[in-house]
Amino acid sequence: MYKVKFLGGAQEVGRLGILIEEKGKRVLIDYGVIPEKPPLYPLPPEKVDSIFVTHSHLDHIGALPIFYQDFNPNIFATDMTANSMRPMLRDSIKVMNLEGYPVRFTQDDIEKLYGNMTTVKYGETIEKDGFRITPQSAGHIPGSTMWRFENSSSIMVTGDLYTSDSLLLKGAEAQKCDTLIVESTYAGKNHVDREAVRKSLRESIKEVIEGGGKVILPSFAMGRTQELVMSVYDLPYNIATDGMGNLISNIYMHTPGYLRSDKGFRKALANINEIKGRNMRETALDNDIIISTSGMLDGGPALGYIEKLLDDKKSAIFMTGYQVEGTNGRQLMETGTLNIAGAQVRPKMKVEFFDMSAHAGHDDLVTFIKQCNPDRIIFCHGEQREKMLEDLSNYEIILPMNGEEFSF
Ligand SMILES: [Zn+2]
Ligand SMILES: [Zn+2]
Repeated sequence: MYKVKFLGGAQEVGRLGILIEEKGKRVLIDYGVIPEKPPLYPLPPEKVDSIFVTHSHLDHIGALPIFYQDFNPNIFATDMTANSMRPMLRDSIKVMNLEGYPVRFTQDDIEKLYGNMTTVKYGETIEKDGFRITPQSAGHIPGSTMWRFENSSSIMVTGDLYTSDSLLLKGAEAQKCDTLIVESTYAGKNHVDREAVRKSLRESIKEVIEGGGKVILPSFAMGRTQELVMSVYDLPYNIATDGMGNLISNIYMHTPGYLRSDKGFRKALANINEIKGRNMRETALDNDIIISTSGMLDGGPALGYIEKLLDDKKSAIFMTGYQVEGTNGRQLMETGTLNIAGAQVRPKMKVEFFDMSAHAGHDDLVTFIKQCNPDRIIFCHGEQREKMLEDLSNYEIILPMNGEEFSF
């Protein structure tokens, strides 16, 4: 009999932490934060035998070092996730200090975690704590992993899931399992076809630049920056990237075997001007397009570039990522204003949103789940999970709450 408990991320998007126990052995999948202000943490750590990481977004890893203050479990991830986690965690300490929130862990805690890290490859089964465990690509960002645990029965945890191909990655492939623990960020909502979104983004970029303006693409460092690079690199304009996305691109280049085409990504990057340091930043706006963090416009070079272009009606801010409540990006989308250095300003630039989500939409989730054909579905990582019920009425479905233990 399996026992399952969510330490976070059951009825909400973010701070995922899933405890799975069978035959006295207990594993944890992810331990993240909700990057609100202040950041929200999952329930406190409990003793586990091993930890399995789905991917290196902060809502899945942002609290992991806290675990290593009291416990010392083995931790498993793909080498891509392991390589990209460290800069993300270090940067999160920097951001919390900058924003004046208490930092709950230190660099030493991060290093302690790395002392117990084992890297794994997609498709290779390991035996641990009585489980046979197989990682597979989740299609969400490079290195992202669905973990399949096999003991008396099989249970698969998707983490964040994307099932279509993008320019950067192949979509996740369904697998038969008895119990499926699946994210549901986009329950009740579908996306416009990705290729159509990319086309309209390229058209809008052309229009702005031919009209004498510049385009700022605020972008997450991990995954989105690189997909945007792949989406626009062949346009006949000068394109630059700035911020932590450059560091992550470098990790992607040096961790082969995860992208749809390592060679294609290298070719795209060769067309991009990487902004390194303050001096280059002075002249960065000589470029026509700048792809830069922060993706939600809470600081980062992107905000600096927008500040310089504020009154330029010819220029544009094109948003492509989900904007969390309380962020500058969300405020821009809802009210057309931004907070810059404590003042509220209204950019005269054009603002538009292009839906390039890396989460499966409603219909894609339904298709994926039916292909996995589980006896039991556990929905998490969603605020509107009940919207999944109608299309899956033939299945046993559990909608757990944080902290509630249940078994099957
Ligand atoms: Zn994610
Ligand atoms: Zn997530």
